[in-house]
Formats: sequence, structure tokens, C-alpha cells
Amino acid sequence: MEESHGLLIVLSGPSGAGKGTLCSELLRQSPDLVYSVSATSRAPRPGELEGVHYYFRTREAFQGMLEQGELLEWAEFCGNYYGTPRFAVEQWLRAGKDVILEIEIQGALQVKKRFPQGVFIFIVPPSLDVLSERIHKRGTEPEEVIQKRLSTAVRELAYVSEYDYVVINDEVPLAVDKIKSILTAEKCHVKRKPFLFKGGS
Ligand code: 5GP
Repeated sequence: MEESHGLLIVLSGPSGAGKGTLCSELLRQSPDLVYSVSATSRAPRPGELEGVHYYFRTREAFQGMLEQGELLEWAEFCGNYYGTPRFAVEQWLRAGKDVILEIEIQGALQVKKRFPQGVFIFIVPPSLDVLSERIHKRGTEPEEVIQKRLSTAVRELAYVSEYDYVVINDEVPLAVDKIKSILTAEKCHVKRKPFLFKGGS
């Protein structure tokens, strides 16, 4: 991908860490931030809208997007495909917009390979007890599935070292403030200010 001006922000972490809630709150507080709408093969949940929450596609259509090189990253999660359409992301970044992806870990690692100048933020729950409580509260899954999700989440915590930042999601307003501070710092980082070194002595 070519050099760009906007920040590519990747919010990722284990299922149940609350990254969706943080992402929504961040977008509410930062109207200039652009959310990258993912494509998925899973069925819409009640209230979810095409093109707003996801682009809902059949598995075949999703595979077509993949074969055409239309995805920046993709992963299979709990039996469904998820992926980030690359065209919109590249266009927004070129236009100087900051773009946020809220994706699981395998996808985030692919983005990091293709786009190392992105900002990679790992969201973790405050404790495994809280994670367990959150996954149980979601409701409908049988206990064995919950246990599987929990053990997956524990394994996934090991990926924290692949990220630039880690934010513990104990209280949403606090965690959102931390993410906003990270973004402010990243925008000031000298690595993103090459023009300072051009010309003059
Ligand atoms: P859900 O089905 O609950 O909306 O999402 C399941 C998981 O897929 C969440 O961890 C979410 O962050 C992740 N996800 C959503 N969109 C994408 C995407 O485009 N790529 C990847 N790799 N993961 C995604």
C-alpha cells in the first residue's frame, strides 16, 4: 500500500474484551474518525443494517471478494468469514482521514504485515473473571462453547506483544480517554512528521 496521510487505527483483542463498545464510543466522541465497515458471511442480527454494521455477503460472494484481492485482511471466526474491504480504507487514508478497524487478532496481524505504520491497539478485559462474566452475559451460548471462547481468549492474550499499545477495558470512559491520548501522541510522533527535516538547517 502506498504512503498515506491519515492514521490507520486497528482496535483488536480477544472476544469479550469490549472492543465494539469502545469503538462505538470513540466514534461518537470523534466525528472526524471514519469507521471501516467490514464484510461478513454471518447473518445480520436484529437491528443490524447493511452497509452500516457490516456488508452482509454469502460465503461465495465473500470468497469472490477474496479472490479479486478486494480485502485488506480477512479471517474465519466462529464459522463465519470477516474481512476489511481495502478500497474504501485506502481512499480515506489518501484523503487524510483517520480510519479505524475493529477486528479480531488474526486479521490485525495481517494488517500489521501490510501496513506496519498503522497504530495497533490491543484491548484486554480487566480480569479473566470479568471476561467470563461478559461472555456469560451475552446469553445464549451453551457452557461448553463459553468455555471454548474463554480458553481461546486466554490463548489470544499472548498476542499482546505484537501490538503497539495495550488498553485495559475496566471502565469504558477511562479506556476511551486512553485511546484518544494514544491517537494524539501518534499524530505528534516525529516518525509521522518527515517534513520537519526537509530543507533548512
Ligand atoms: P461479531 O460477529 O460479534 O460482529 O464479530 C466477531 C468478531 O469478528 C469480533 O471479534 C470482531 O472484532 C471481528 N471482526 C469484525 N469485522 C472484522 C473484519 O473485517 N476482519 C476481522 N479479521 N475480524 C473482524
